[in-house]
Amino acid sequence: MTIDFERIKRELPIKEVLTKYGLLRDLKQRGSQLYGPCPLHGGDNPQAFNVSLEKNLWNCFTHCRGGSVVDLLMALEKVDVREAGKLGYEMLGVEMKAGASSPSGPRPLDFTLSLDYEHPYLKSRNIDLGTAKYFGVGHCDRGIMAGRIAIPIHDDRGKLVAYAGRAIDDEQPKYRFPRGFSKNKVVYNLNRVRASSAREIVVVEGFFDVMTLYRSGIESVGLMGSSLSKDQRDQLLSLEQRLTLCLDGDNAGRRGMAKALEMLRGGRPMKAVYLPEGLQPEDFGSNYLREILS
Ligand SMILES: [Zn+2]
Repeated sequence: MTIDFERIKRELPIKEVLTKYGLLRDLKQRGSQLYGPCPLHGGDNPQAFNVSLEKNLWNCFTHCRGGSVVDLLMALEKVDVREAGKLGYEMLGVEMKAGASSPSGPRPLDFTLSLDYEHPYLKSRNIDLGTAKYFGVGHCDRGIMAGRIAIPIHDDRGKLVAYAGRAIDDEQPKYRFPRGFSKNKVVYNLNRVRASSAREIVVVEGFFDVMTLYRSGIESVGLMGSSLSKDQRDQLLSLEQRLTLCLDGDNAGRRGMAKALEMLRGGRPMKAVYLPEGLQPEDFGSNYLREILS
């Protein structure tokens, strides 16, 4: 089932959550602000934690950053965005419609492909051996991905859910996905960046953009296309890092940027980087990428 996070943010007051967790008594109210020591990291700075009752947003100045009521539930319960959403629904008394739809993510694969990480095609795309191994990307010589570069795709818990097969010549389609696999349920590389210490995550379109950025020391995730789905949005908003949106410099990319910014607005501070016409992150050198994305 889909969780309407916007509704939770709108209808569930942070004050109510703090009350429920017995944390309100340590806070003081001044106008439409609550403030006090941070109940999350437990420091003793008496001004560290702030809540805007009007905006229904919270902030910890010393440690934990801040965000919406959903972010607060995630921090309090140390759960992912979906679990926090379920808790939010519980507090709002919203019925979870069980069985209304299949489990949201794709099912894990029960096999792995054995791949050649040193195929010339990878070198032609500037993917060195270390990067190929890190992403598990290589040439496949049998099965439905035979003759293609197979790119393993993991869900946000790190379970392998599909391989994308990139043609190495003019063969169509350019990318082949397994039957039944839905790209819009997954954000490529999210599982790895979630654990990273990077403060900023760049959101790009393609697999090779992600790999190129990684070689330049920049952590990124891929939408596997130019449009952000609702599931992908929720997954992006579950990241603690700052997000920078950098889709391709073509019409589809620009349209995608506009729509994604609209969908992510209010979730957290966002940066948008627009690339010159006809170019994608993969086309740039390390220094330039670091400069425009930092
Ligand atoms: Zn804190």
